[in-house]
Amino acid sequence: MKKRYQDLERRIQILLADPAYEEHPLREALADLWQHTNDQLDRLERISYLSDAFQSMARQRERGLVDRFDRELRRLAKIVRISDGYQELMRDMNASLKESSSRDPLTNLLNRRALMERLKDLADPSSEYDGGFVVAMLDVDHFKRINDRYGHEAGDRALIELAEIMRTSVRDTDDVARWGGEEFLVLLPGVKLSEGEAIIDRMLDAVRRKKLDMDGEALTLTVSVGMARYQQGENISTVLSRADRALYLAKQAGRDRVALETEN
Ligand code: GH3
Ligand code: MG
Ligand code: MG
Repeated sequence: MKKRYQDLERRIQILLADPAYEEHPLREALADLWQHTNDQLDRLERISYLSDAFQSMARQRERGLVDRFDRELRRLAKIVRISDGYQELMRDMNASLKESSSRDPLTNLLNRRALMERLKDLADPSSEYDGGFVVAMLDVDHFKRINDRYGHEAGDRALIELAEIMRTSVRDTDDVARWGGEEFLVLLPGVKLSEGEAIIDRMLDAVRRKKLDMDGEALTLTVSVGMARYQQGENISTVLSRADRALYLAKQAGRDRVALETEN
């Protein structure tokens, strides 16, 4: 194409420069046509230059937008990661707060509030434990003497040891709680009173056999227990007061023993 144009240009230049055609009537028209053709070619070149520039600008703009979009996406992914991390942290903190608010700080047993919740769950007719449950109320015998003789801190250590014996004497599905002071409560779901009595008897035996080190002296403790079985539909406070009354009877009968609820 270029070669043909160059040939044509040369031929026309020669014709226009030839003095033989100086007066030829078509010479001026040929010169004008040639000028016009060159003008058109110039315009075409400018247009294609502009079109190329426009295309490259559009491509650059597109690339810029894609880059910005990618940057925004990465930023968003980072924010989501941070927010997930915070949510997990909050969940962990909530769980540990709930755990610590349901534990007695001295013995790490369930506290009274947590045990009441557990009792409510067990007594709920729609609960999975439809086999009833037994409540054992435990009170350390003559505990005041331990404090008086060895001091309050030694008394605390004794309570921690007793709590450990109680915890390890029952199954994971049973609950042991510090009811207050030197009193504890054990919940045994799905057992009869006589079965519960056997479990608590073994626990009392473990307490009796435990030698507590008090200022180098080996000391043993005993515990009295009152037990009652929850009757479907009754108030939680009713079964607790029956266990409490039985505990009183155990103390009356000489301590270091289990007493079962009496029929009214
Ligand atoms: P009983 O056999 O009749 O139950 O006699 P007791 O001495 O155990 O009964 P009492 O209720 O008179 O005394 C309970 C004692 O338990 C008094 C109190 O100082 C002590 N006590 C309660 N809570 C704690 C505690 O957290 N730490 C210590 N070291 N002693 C406690
Ligand atoms: Mg007491
Ligand atoms: Mg006591």
